[in-house]
Amino acid sequence: MTSTTAPTKPTALVTGANKGIGRETARQLGRLGMTVLVGARDDERGERAARELREEGLDARFLRLDVTRQDTVDQAAAEIGRDFGQLDVLINNAAIVESGEVPSETTVATAEHIYRTNVFGVIAVTHAMLPLLRAAEAGRVVNLSSRLASLRKAADLDAPHRSLLAYNSSKAALNSLTLHYAREFADTPLKINSVTPGAVPTDLSGHQGNRTVEEGARTVVRLATLAADGPTGGFFDDSGPVAW
Ligand code: NAP
Repeated sequence: MTSTTAPTKPTALVTGANKGIGRETARQLGRLGMTVLVGARDDERGERAARELREEGLDARFLRLDVTRQDTVDQAAAEIGRDFGQLDVLINNAAIVESGEVPSETTVATAEHIYRTNVFGVIAVTHAMLPLLRAAEAGRVVNLSSRLASLRKAADLDAPHRSLLAYNSSKAALNSLTLHYAREFADTPLKINSVTPGAVPTDLSGHQGNRTVEEGARTVVRLATLAADGPTGGFFDDSGPVAW
């Protein structure tokens, strides 16, 4: 990225933005006039996605960011600080899943692997970006959760529910992070919410789902662009609050 001083338009960082819902979220934020930082762990995939968005006329830049690698997290925060001095929107989107999980067979190694990205990665990125988000006039953080995170749904043992032990509990932990950050910053302009994009056919979902990537991203963008009187510390889909 090249050096600038005071930004003239909002800046948004999307983690895991080289494909899927993350890339589409970056696209929709870009169309709203934001500078979008396409966070990706792989240079080639990240550059390609950012180039694709630039070819659509958007202000998109690749930012190397592996959420499990503190050095890249620190470097990304330093670059944003140097180039923009603030961050208006953080979308914690990057995540992984092990789709064949059976609860009693999930190993500690699998759980650690998934938590490293889906939970610890979010903590690392959020903490690194918080000073930049607080420097913005109205910082917004959106955590990509899932309906599978819902404890209320899991607690209904008679209803069908896909029990992916490590993934579902990692997203429940993510929802808990949302609440605790929201409590800490409740008296500030910063808003932090969780969102479920619905079932969207992507690599992560094994290309299963009844919603388009555009529909999934739209809900994320709505929470990323909340007005000052909008909610914080909530869990939403596109029709409103979702049971925790
Ligand atoms: P996806 O297409 O598989 O995209 C996942 C993204 O995360 C990819 O860009 C991937 O990068 C990136 N990523 C994984 N580990 C990373 C790491 N350590 N550092 C940086 N980036 C990393 O999946 P998606 O469906 O769009 O998922 C986006 C979010 O929506 C996830 O949080 C997911 O849990 C949530 N969600 C999705 C659905 C659904 O139906 N699709 C439903 C509910 C919730 P690489 O290309 O390098 O692997």
